[in-house]
Amino acid sequence: NLPDMDEIVSLCKRRGIIFPSSDIYNGYAGFFDYGPLGVELKKNLKDAWWKHFVTQREDVVGLDSSIIHNPTTWKSSGHLDGFSDPMVDCKETKLRFRADQIFFSPVVLEEDSSIVGYVCVQEANDEDMVKEATKQANVILKEKGMKGTKIKAFQFREVVEATEEEMSQIPSPASGKPTLTMPRDFNLMFETKVGATVDSDNVAYLRPETAQGIFINFKNVLGTSRQKIPFGIAQMGKAFRNEITPRNFIFRSREFEQMEVEYFIPPGDDVWPEYHQKWIDASKEFLSDVVGLREDLMGWDVHKGDKLAHYAQACTDVTFKFPFGEQELMGIAARGNYDLTQHTEGSGKNLEYYDEQTKERYIPHCIEPSLGVDRLMLAVICSAYAEDEVGGEKRSLLKFNPRIAPIKAAIFPLLKNKEQLVRVARDLFKQLSQRYNVMYDAAGAIGRRYRRADEVGIPFCITVDFETIEDNAGVTIRDRDSTEQIRLPIDEVIPYLSKAIDG
Ligand code: ATP
Repeated sequence: NLPDMDEIVSLCKRRGIIFPSSDIYNGYAGFFDYGPLGVELKKNLKDAWWKHFVTQREDVVGLDSSIIHNPTTWKSSGHLDGFSDPMVDCKETKLRFRADQIFFSPVVLEEDSSIVGYVCVQEANDEDMVKEATKQANVILKEKGMKGTKIKAFQFREVVEATEEEMSQIPSPASGKPTLTMPRDFNLMFETKVGATVDSDNVAYLRPETAQGIFINFKNVLGTSRQKIPFGIAQMGKAFRNEITPRNFIFRSREFEQMEVEYFIPPGDDVWPEYHQKWIDASKEFLSDVVGLREDLMGWDVHKGDKLAHYAQACTDVTFKFPFGEQELMGIAARGNYDLTQHTEGSGKNLEYYDEQTKERYIPHCIEPSLGVDRLMLAVICSAYAEDEVGGEKRSLLKFNPRIAPIKAAIFPLLKNKEQLVRVARDLFKQLSQRYNVMYDAAGAIGRRYRRADEVGIPFCITVDFETIEDNAGVTIRDRDSTEQIRLPIDEVIPYLSKAIDG
């Protein structure tokens, strides 16, 4: 019983979590701005990740590389030649097919170069599917008096309705030809120019992933951190992809953030499976125990055979049941030594590791857990969204785990015009705000204030009432999810919150 996407998008806007970018200019497809609550939630997710995978581990160190690298980086990594999504548009149905960058494998049905028609199938290696799609295409071609047209099938991984603007940009098919355009290869990297000259020599790219910044710093970190293999380098930061189908809100955008680790291990077919499993387990622990994603919405997708990138030994995706379907949330790949080998060749530098114990030299292999911050945030919001009834009244709330909740507590004086109540509440706010992002709210009936706090997912509401000041009876703390209240002496408030928030 997930809310639909329209509800999530409008809730995010109403509550100041996420706005369309450049909203006053009618937005900009694939870009988003994070509002007062969104920026806190995002920061908390990043902090929790950093703490879990860097600070609390002895074998992982951090890095913050530049977003624009020497462009040769992308030549070596293969992104310049291979980081593209082939796409096909259909003028008639106004659909845009995003083919698979790795598994794009056209099935030639007729050995003839004058192919003018394409059929799109979801599994190119499913013969029945290809046959059925071709049969249907032939029926259409016959109806149009185009029997005998040569057809080719290709595999797509996403089909979306194209916007008016996208449709207006595609070339019109010649008359009498089918309405599908030829598959066009589209490199996803954003180009920019560096420096003052305007020739093609100074073209550079915004990074499409944070991982390559790690590989090109492997030697620097190894030489300065006193780490020995196995060890990892972690990085989080912005990545940019000129996605051809930016859809589903922040799930697939053109500017987003990634949190990635490259965990370097010795080579050997008997070595990587154990580390791969460890990182799968660590990722699961982070997502369910630290972030608090609903377990019933999470799943696993183990890539096999032709679903694997050519250089990968294995890849397991953690999936999440978003309102628009079950999709990849993050990937945990065993990447072999592809990247360091490529950069060795590209740079001419020796990126080998010398193992003092075995006296061996080798190019390390690596395990790569890669998680999108924005995609995680969407999963968190969907997971936290809930509706229930309190005292016969409908309530809408966000059940954020206290650890990642944007606002940790709201402090209320029972009445806003009783100076003594206000003074104690203000004092408490000052104390708590040294440690946490908390809110002071004195406006309106207490029930309404509770409701407002629930809507933005504040886990605790602390009320200063007459018993606080007259009987020295402490404050009440109300739990968002159960709505139950307890009384606590004021000096026990911080330890109480800390237990729930800091773990
Ligand atoms: P997809 O198949 O959804 O395009 P991908 O397999 O290309 O994703 P990776 O290159 O493996 O993704 O990137 C690792 C992670 O980065 C993804 O699991 C996702 O969380 C995040 N990510 C990738 N592309 C985007 C995007 N356009 N918008 C938001 N997050 C993204």
